[in-house]
Amino acid sequence: MTIKEKLTILSDSAKYDASCSSSGSIRKNSGGLGNAAQCGICHSFSSDGRCISLLKILMTNCCIFDCKYCINRKSNNVKRAIFEPEEICEITINFYKRNYIEGLFLSSGILKNPDYTMEKLIETITLLRKKYHFSGYIHAKAIPGASPILLKKLGNLVDRLSANIELPTNDSLKLLAPNKHENKIYSIMKTVKENRNRNFTPAGQSTQMIIGGSPETDLEILGKSEYLYNRYDLKRVFYSAYIPVNKDTLLPKLQIPPLKRENRLYQADWLLRFYGYKVNHLLDKENPNFNILLDPKADWALRHMEEYPKEVNKAAYYDLLKVPGIGPRSAKKIISSRKYTSLEWNDLKKMGISLKRAKYFLLCNGKYFTNQNIFKKNIIEANLILEDKISTTSSNVQLSLFQ
Ligand code: SF4
Repeated sequence: MTIKEKLTILSDSAKYDASCSSSGSIRKNSGGLGNAAQCGICHSFSSDGRCISLLKILMTNCCIFDCKYCINRKSNNVKRAIFEPEEICEITINFYKRNYIEGLFLSSGILKNPDYTMEKLIETITLLRKKYHFSGYIHAKAIPGASPILLKKLGNLVDRLSANIELPTNDSLKLLAPNKHENKIYSIMKTVKENRNRNFTPAGQSTQMIIGGSPETDLEILGKSEYLYNRYDLKRVFYSAYIPVNKDTLLPKLQIPPLKRENRLYQADWLLRFYGYKVNHLLDKENPNFNILLDPKADWALRHMEEYPKEVNKAAYYDLLKVPGIGPRSAKKIISSRKYTSLEWNDLKKMGISLKRAKYFLLCNGKYFTNQNIFKKNIIEANLILEDKISTTSSNVQLSLFQ
């Protein structure tokens, strides 16, 4: 088999792993430039926010495990291939020299056993670093169950490691990925957390959870994310809408991946990481799932109408952050401007504060933006859903350079 044939098989097999930032698109090329569904290149972000293109491949799609949801499971009859370490180096260096990529995202099915697979990953990345003097970004997948000594070796060679938790609860893992054990995945995360420094996984660790492949609620999914962020200092939890690629009675009967739900979970995850929200603040047993039609902050606000409208001239920073449409930058602008003047609606507009959603939840000097009779949950909800639809539709349109 040629390297090109292997590359086709092993970049295609890698596309279901969302633990880098650009996976999961199913939008096909319709005759123009570019192709978001084409596999092979993914992206990550450096600590200064720079976007880095990565060659995304599997070392092999052969696997001794039989995870129900996975295209590469051993019981599937698919074309298999294995890259030799030198072949991966050759592709990476050639692509790098042509400016196609800036780094490598290397994952693998489990070949023979976890230790053997990790040894092969280490051999490949050692070659890249030592023989080819490749100093670019490398994100590797750690193989659960491999020896801690191998994990430490790998961690010293790469920028980021990830171990995919795959499913939000151990019960679902037992059912759909019976060869995987939550404790082995946690053990990797613990080692990475305890050893992380300038030389050992300087870009930290991440994980992936499949959404909609098992019955867990948003509360359980985000609860798991919160636990992982707090306990193991994860940089990111990536949510990957379940894509039906196998037939199995244990799998849900979904026609299309739950992409909207995936998007809502990313929005909620952002609230956890940057807005100081806690999961049990966003959701509870009575409301364990987000309203898919609203962004999670608006959904929460509508369930807590008693907290609104907030007086823009008095509300504390974190209360302003709870207003749908107000982010940290707008909240800071409001707080610094109101030191000098009492803010009116026009002042907010002049300051560039987006009021599309915020206007329903604010007062300026005691005044609502319109007749306060519309401050009713059902009216605001209908307007917000409409806004969301309009912004989703318009954001799909390519902006013109010349308008
Ligand atoms: S371990 Fe499971 S998810 Fe990973 S490649 Fe093998 S079958 Fe697929």
